[in-house]
Amino acid sequence: MMNSVQQNLTFDKSLRQYEISTSYCHVNKLICGKTLGIVGKSKATDTLMAGRATDFVERPLDSKYCCLPDGHDGKCAGNLAEFCAANPLQKKAHQKIMTMNFQTPGNDYAPNKNRGCRNFQNALTPSQAKEIRHFGKTSCAIPLSEYSPGLFQAHSFLDWMVYLSSTENFKYNTTCSNFESILFMLEQHKSYIRAHFDRLNRPVFDTEGFTICAVVGNRVEMEDWNVSPCSSKSKSIQFGHVRARSPDYCSVLSLGAVAMSRRGNLILGVHDFLGDEWVIELKNISSRFL
Ligand SMILES: [Zn+2]
Repeated sequence: MMNSVQQNLTFDKSLRQYEISTSYCHVNKLICGKTLGIVGKSKATDTLMAGRATDFVERPLDSKYCCLPDGHDGKCAGNLAEFCAANPLQKKAHQKIMTMNFQTPGNDYAPNKNRGCRNFQNALTPSQAKEIRHFGKTSCAIPLSEYSPGLFQAHSFLDWMVYLSSTENFKYNTTCSNFESILFMLEQHKSYIRAHFDRLNRPVFDTEGFTICAVVGNRVEMEDWNVSPCSSKSKSIQFGHVRARSPDYCSVLSLGAVAMSRRGNLILGVHDFLGDEWVIELKNISSRFL
């Protein structure tokens, strides 16, 4: 069992590994990536509380980053809302991918920050979280397994903008500024994502290029984006981690998650999406009856 110092070192190693990966390099060339101001600054009272955990170290102050195409016209922006045609369904869908990528999942148990920024300065290992829990319900920190630097979140967001804009019946706002270059950026990134998952025999788009649930394989519909994360609707889209969330590595980065229906995510469970274990399990189950 790793102690918190070792766990943080292991986690930080995964951040550096991503920074030298080809996917990091690919996305960095596509997006502007300029900083948009500080996000995730912890309050002194939060840090005082989190600091009661053994070997707690506050993470560096981080920012939000521009995800418009490199060399874009006009002001920087941390989202692509303008690119989506303004109807209520698409607004909600865009909001949903913002929440998934930039905020931690909502949960009530202490000491995890409910819907905190993913780059919140106080991130606790599981053993640290357990210690803090003794001090009562609080929201002084996020779990280390949910932490991701601001630039990595912007990379992950670009993946999700591809999944959203490749959904059947998605409508672009053709009058938005930088429309052509945003479209080009998304097309470039889609080819990259597609080649990556096809190579691993885990297609994420169907033959016509529409987004599918990466596990079940059904074509995603616009309505599937319009469901709250806690909804029980089986087709609603969730943040499908490729590798199960862990305090040992960062999983919110490009190629770290794929569009999964709630049903698909349940079937996958804690298995590695890229591994064959869950596929073999399903095959064994079906062979009992078919
Ligand atoms: Zn910019």
